[in-house]
Amino acid sequence: MAKFLLTSLLACAELCAGALFGSLDRPIRWRDGRLVLYFSREVHLPSGASGVLPSESAAEVHEALHAAIREWNEAGRAAIAISAELTDSQAAAGNTVTFTDPRPFDEGRCDSRTAAACALLTWDAATGEMLSASIAFNPYLRHSARGRDGATDIRRVMLHELGHALGLDHSGLPGSIMHGDVHRADLNADGQAAPVLAPTDILTLSRLYPPADGMPARIVGVLELDGAPLAGAHVVAANQEGAAVCDTLSDARGRFEVAVEPGYYTLLARPPAGLTPAQAGVILAGPFPALVREPVEALPGSTTEVSLTGRGGEAPSLDWVAVIAADGRFQGGPEAVLARGRSYRLLLHRSPEAGDFEIGFSSPRIRLTAPVQPVAGIPGWPGTLLLRLAVAADAPAGSYSILYRTANSVAVLPGSLRVTDPATGQQ
Ligand SMILES: [Zn+2]
Repeated sequence: MAKFLLTSLLACAELCAGALFGSLDRPIRWRDGRLVLYFSREVHLPSGASGVLPSESAAEVHEALHAAIREWNEAGRAAIAISAELTDSQAAAGNTVTFTDPRPFDEGRCDSRTAAACALLTWDAATGEMLSASIAFNPYLRHSARGRDGATDIRRVMLHELGHALGLDHSGLPGSIMHGDVHRADLNADGQAAPVLAPTDILTLSRLYPPADGMPARIVGVLELDGAPLAGAHVVAANQEGAAVCDTLSDARGRFEVAVEPGYYTLLARPPAGLTPAQAGVILAGPFPALVREPVEALPGSTTEVSLTGRGGEAPSLDWVAVIAADGRFQGGPEAVLARGRSYRLLLHRSPEAGDFEIGFSSPRIRLTAPVQPVAGIPGWPGTLLLRLAVAADAPAGSYSILYRTANSVAVLPGSLRVTDPATGQQ
């Protein structure tokens, strides 16, 4: 029986861990739908110089861990049952949750400088059955059960690592608790202190552990680019409003599967190239989705099969998008955080540069306020265009998509704009 070990790093800025699960041809899951975790009774380091804040009690820390368990249990609607007991062990082994074990970090399995915690998983390669899952909080960093500044939020980190322990991979959607960037303090788009699971988290859980009260619909298929399977592509199902509701990565054979509520969806695949290095303060991304299919109807309790095939570079697409605030501050691209009631400039470059196009958003709460203008002076990008957009004062917090339409195609940048409350946003 072959066993595999995965360390998942919280500070991963891209879909780097996705390839680990995405390269496998079967899901990794607990076979009998039960997971028992053992919380280390002792949570403080003797010195108190790092790790859990000395002013916070072990009971508070354990309650933060329980809160994360409750949220996943409720999302699973009884198809996965997670429970916890206390243990005197302080080693990250055998389904333990520890705060004082430096070994996974000292041995290089987890990054001691940037990972808030890591999930150490073993599974049976033949069956996909999960065998053990331990969660080690990084004893070299500061952790808080009360969400203190300068410390990682134990409940939020536990929610993410527990997702890995259940078999979930990283998500590319910014609102997901499984996003690789989840350590960021502004993760919760609704501005609440409590971490919340996004639809993609809940739908992916239901795909691994189908709930007793009915399966969501599934969309399965194969990606091919230039006649070859496209592995590691980010596949997203966007609903009729253009909101990204579920995502996954294609496996080594280009196959993918997403769970969705019944309805009509646009399915799109973003090639695995991902983000390219920042240049001159503007993050360039590209190419944007070459493979788009709309609409796909997902019927209740059934599986819809689709295939996405394309030739490299054939689809008109955006080369990059950057969002600039009124004060000139770079907000991000293609994933940017916006505040409601504010205006922004959107710079974009597309290929080919000719032809009519339309930019839209997944909600009327975000709209263009002026005609498109060409801009000069960006080295290497002579065809850059400037658009102005406004976020309505009553825009609900959450993820929004940019839609790029030409005469023959549409590209959706799912969840690329995230609206937050200014009081809790990244400003
Ligand atoms: Zn992770």
